[in-house]
Amino acid sequence: MQGQLLVLSGPGGVGKSTIVNELKKYPDFLFSVSATTRSPRNGEIDGEAYHFVSEVEFERMIKDGEFLEWANFAGHKYGTPALPVEDALASGKNALLEIEIEGARQIRRSRPEALLIFLQPPSFEALEERIRGRKTDSEERIQARLSLAREEMAAAPEFDHVVVNHRVEEVVAALVSLAARKA
Ligand code: 5GP
Repeated sequence: MQGQLLVLSGPGGVGKSTIVNELKKYPDFLFSVSATTRSPRNGEIDGEAYHFVSEVEFERMIKDGEFLEWANFAGHKYGTPALPVEDALASGKNALLEIEIEGARQIRRSRPEALLIFLQPPSFEALEERIRGRKTDSEERIQARLSLAREEMAAAPEFDHVVVNHRVEEVVAALVSLAARKA
């Protein structure tokens, strides 16, 4: 039996990666490791957080059709390598992609059977608080992120399910239960 392809998306800053880290307690999920052209942040290990690749390598991967989807986000490219996901699904594992909205739209078109989940903040104010919480950003950068987040929030109706990020455990439980349903 094929596994379920799950896409977790939502505005930048909503807390997608916290949810994914918690989900890692469930071994029957493959957590796709994306390729990106951005530089590693403190503590990010190549091959774990991301495959950190050059622009040239990313372009090669696009040309060779290695991505299930890819998108530009905040000046960098991000893409999901297809092979590990295909292998996991074929062996009956669920595969989870944590990606931004444009990538989710591509999956919607290329994989209509995928389950698209939109992680929504409890309110825009709560999202703003989280975005402002990253103390390293300038006010200009914060404004840019907030304006992008506003656009991203408008995409919620395109998704199969909207899950509000009140508590991490609740979101994780909702995702596990959605994955367990037959496609
Ligand atoms: P960050 O640079 O903060 O790790 O990620 C920026 C955004 O890129 C996040 O919204 C994240 O979900 C998204 N992202 C990470 N990997 C991929 C990918 O493979 N494809 C797409 N489309 N977005 C991704």
